[in-house]
Amino acid sequence: MAKSKKNSALEASSEKQIYDLKQLLEISKSLNSVIDFSTLIEAILYTCMGQMKTLGVAIFTKQNFDACCFQLNRNYCGFELNPNSDYSFPETHPLIALLSSQNSCVTPEVIQKELTPDTALKNLMELNPSLIVPLKAKSHINGMLVLGEQITAEEYSTYEKEHILNIASLAAIAISNAALLEMTTTDMMTHLKLKHYFYTVLMQRLEDSISQKSPLSILMLDIDFFKRFNDTYGHACGDVVLQMVASVIQANTRNQDMAARYGGEEFVIMLCDTPVHTAEKIAERIRKSIENLDILYDSQHLRLTISIGVAEFNHTVDQTAKNLVDRADKALYTSKQTGRNKVSVAE
Ligand code: GH3
Ligand code: MG
Ligand code: MG
Repeated sequence: MAKSKKNSALEASSEKQIYDLKQLLEISKSLNSVIDFSTLIEAILYTCMGQMKTLGVAIFTKQNFDACCFQLNRNYCGFELNPNSDYSFPETHPLIALLSSQNSCVTPEVIQKELTPDTALKNLMELNPSLIVPLKAKSHINGMLVLGEQITAEEYSTYEKEHILNIASLAAIAISNAALLEMTTTDMMTHLKLKHYFYTVLMQRLEDSISQKSPLSILMLDIDFFKRFNDTYGHACGDVVLQMVASVIQANTRNQDMAARYGGEEFVIMLCDTPVHTAEKIAERIRKSIENLDILYDSQHLRLTISIGVAEFNHTVDQTAKNLVDRADKALYTSKQTGRNKVSVAE
């Protein structure tokens, strides 16, 4: 009798392990099919919530491939953040070293015992986490997961800690792949996308636009008299101007849009689900924001303007992605010819 009870317990635990292994396979497939960074973060959050039966999950990652600190991703669940607190850890922080040195999850008790408290740790502890999990790819930390308590309010078991470590290592590989893609498709100076990648995505989005009958518009932008900044204040000043313009562009586009550096001081923006009249309004908003920029460079206040061309994808006119961009470029040329600092719409 006792033996059969033991056998059925063993059977149940083997079944659970097989089930979890199958889950890991599914998680691996789903995480590795996502290449967009913010979609990936969301997928990791929901996977952890489901697998760990918790409502609290947050992720620290590097915001950019050249960043040297781990920051709490804006996408998180179940934690109450203090808007005045900074949730970030430099690469050299003792917590990162601790996570790096041991291949296991860390509890708040361990942190309190092993590490000297500082602001970063204090802010983390105020979130009341139950478990910190390293995201490790090729023995290199590329982030950490913070888990809240389980719905059952029980402590995480050794088995659950191992399971989340496995999930974390799949997540870390997916993050590392997404970061690699980010690195090879991003312009280092402006942090906008590169032209060739822009076209790769545009071609896919044009197909979606046709099949879903949703509008798509393109903005082409060119800084007015940009050469003057280089000639008057030097190339480094020109670079600062480019970065400022890029941040205005970024602030005025949504996640589903894509902005790229098209050439030296030319930019292109793809606005999904956007008809031409809305695109024109967005272009006007960008033009005004740039006109109102006051850039302080070497104790000098610099002002600048930008010219913009707008075109909406027309499936019967635009045979290729390049055709569409060329029409926006022609509209930009009209803006340049008719006084600059303006928005023109393609016929
Ligand atoms: P327009 O109003 O007609 O557009 O005049 P413009 O001066 O903006 O245009 P032009 O094409 O004459 O000059 C563009 C300049 O941009 C020339 C080039 O040296 C400079 N440039 C291109 N890439 C970079 C860069 O990465 N950094 C800096 N600082 N300058 C750059
Ligand atoms: Mg120019
Ligand atoms: Mg130009």
